[in-house]
Amino acid sequence: MNPTAQLSGNVHFPLPPLDSETPTSARTGRTKRGLADTTKRWPAGVITVAIDLRDQKSKALVIDAIREWAHNTPALQFRVVDGREGDIRISDDPGIKRNWSAIGTDAKNVPLSEPTMHLERLDDSREFRANALHEFGHALGLLHEHQNPEHDINWDIDAVYEGYTSEHFPKELVYSQFLKLPVGDHLLVTRYDSKSIMHYDFPDIVTLDGRGVGANTHLSEGDKAIVRKLYKLPT
Ligand SMILES: [Zn+2]
Repeated sequence: MNPTAQLSGNVHFPLPPLDSETPTSARTGRTKRGLADTTKRWPAGVITVAIDLRDQKSKALVIDAIREWAHNTPALQFRVVDGREGDIRISDDPGIKRNWSAIGTDAKNVPLSEPTMHLERLDDSREFRANALHEFGHALGLLHEHQNPEHDINWDIDAVYEGYTSEHFPKELVYSQFLKLPVGDHLLVTRYDSKSIMHYDFPDIVTLDGRGVGANTHLSEGDKAIVRKLYKLPT
């Protein structure tokens, strides 16, 4: 959720292509909220999360964020270790840019020597923790909520491209991270939830009806519900 050059405020600096190359989906219930790729769901059991961060405060915030998700994933347990060896590997390497994560089990396709998630170091604890929650949601298989096919955002397409395209964030990435709506039989699509931690915040001016969305910093009830559904105990 870093500012871009063009827009002030908490504009989430979007993610590399790794984050959004998600096909497919099935529409199931309407009572829960969110968007997830069921083909990238982790099997029930223990996931090792390796944390390679430079300071204790960041580590504590990431562990706290993982714990918040873990309360809502009955089929998964998380074993958090220091270092770089794990199923999910979180780094704040300053040589790597932006906040991003592999989607769910796409992490298995990442070379073992590389992180599967990157978080930029921030002094603002609240924002850093929110970023960790968002990226860990991707690591569990969740997709962007503002790309939920049922969203009611009235994008001003020209303003979106004008506001977010930059040297480091090409137009194609703006499309794939903001506007593209995933489709397919393997998606778990539930009711649109503007309070989701998986939703970007954006200002009024990138919409035609002046309805921006503020920064979400905690899991919404919809976030909890969709991962409970995705990771319910095997029966
Ligand atoms: Zn994201």
